[in-house]
Amino acid sequence: TDTDRRRRITLLGSTGSIGVNTLDVVQQLGGRERFEIMALTGNGNIALLAEQARAFGAKLAVTADEQHYQTLKDELSGTGIAVAAGASGLDEAASLDAGWVMAAIVGTAGLAPTLTAAARGADIALANKECLVSAGSLFVEAVRKGGGRLIPVDSEHSAIFQCLEEPQRHALERIILTASGGPFRTHTREQMENVTLATARAHPNWSMGLKISVGSASMFNKALEMIEARHLFNVRPDQIEVVVHPQSIIHSMVGYADGSVMAQLGVPDMRTAIGYALTYPKRPALNVDRLDFAKLSRLDFEAPDETRFPALRLARTALERGGLQGAILNAAEETAFGAFVEEKIRFLDMADVVEQVMDDMVQCPPGSSIDDVFAADAEARGRAKGVIATYAKAAQ
Ligand code: NAD
Ligand code: MG
Repeated sequence: TDTDRRRRITLLGSTGSIGVNTLDVVQQLGGRERFEIMALTGNGNIALLAEQARAFGAKLAVTADEQHYQTLKDELSGTGIAVAAGASGLDEAASLDAGWVMAAIVGTAGLAPTLTAAARGADIALANKECLVSAGSLFVEAVRKGGGRLIPVDSEHSAIFQCLEEPQRHALERIILTASGGPFRTHTREQMENVTLATARAHPNWSMGLKISVGSASMFNKALEMIEARHLFNVRPDQIEVVVHPQSIIHSMVGYADGSVMAQLGVPDMRTAIGYALTYPKRPALNVDRLDFAKLSRLDFEAPDETRFPALRLARTALERGGLQGAILNAAEETAFGAFVEEKIRFLDMADVVEQVMDDMVQCPPGSSIDDVFAADAEARGRAKGVIATYAKAAQ
């Protein structure tokens, strides 16, 4: 029957910026006629999660926050949609038989359910870059073992993926990640000292979730992306370059041994990368804005400044040190970001917290299992909180 031909998909983090864009793409490509939504997951925005589950006829809706279980159950009563909550609920969502899973939870919270989906062989569309930053080659190995594909959704990595033809892999010389430079691209370090959350979250080109927006302002997002690229494309750290490109039109580039550089361009709209991940290796027809080169008139490039944006230097350090330094950087950054949002530390303190935790844990043995990753993550969070407490004291 027609029903059997529908593609089964699951969205981890459906209520976020990537999740909402993914459902828009799904709708554009035929909605419920073409896709069977197995599970949708969210956290605090229960009204949106319930609305999505009803609109797309999901089999299961999950809130990561157990406190919202009853609210979600009430919202969906009588619909026949199953409801679950907490870590076990996320695991249940990831376990349902969907061949394609969008990993769009923010932070390390997404690692466990994404690994569950990977282990049963689902194709993983990866927006949740923290999975790769934290678990690195162990994550890549888990997807490979499960037998599914790992398809990047991060716009830079999608661009590289699109520019990197397998038969030319041997001639790959370098990966050039573009960075918008964020809202503080032209700020001096002094000007950055007292910036507020409101200015830090206002990205000039992209509309995104809170963490990645602040990460674009500090360039910690680019730091995570450097580590993400290393594992996704199995390149050496010295093959990864970053160039600031304020217009965010070139989403990233691949340089080859013959001097050629391939770039992928488009308007800053995540739906292109999401659609590519959903229909790969084909391309979907999408209703997104087209580039108008005459209107664009110019594309600018500048070298990144690691003094004003130490996150980039810290990513290099983590890459050179290897082992669990990615997990440590990631966990410390997430904790420092939380403290900045709660106004416990200032904007520039975030990098100092991360650097201190990375240095404190430099002797941490290289991990050989996901449990080692979770242990390093927990220790780094604890240490970061300790460092943050000293800042909070100093500010009193
Ligand atoms: P967001 O904050 O808008 O959404 C995050 C999603 O995760 C929501 O569905 C939320 O309910 C869920 N969530 C939050 N905390 C959770 C927890 N503790 N447990 C389980 N679920 C939780 O974030 P976003 O901007 O959509 O980003 C999602 C991921 O995609 C991030 O890793 C981000 O770096 C990456 N990404 C986002 C963009 C973008 O344009 N937004 C671009 C590239 C990559
Ligand atoms: Mg990106």
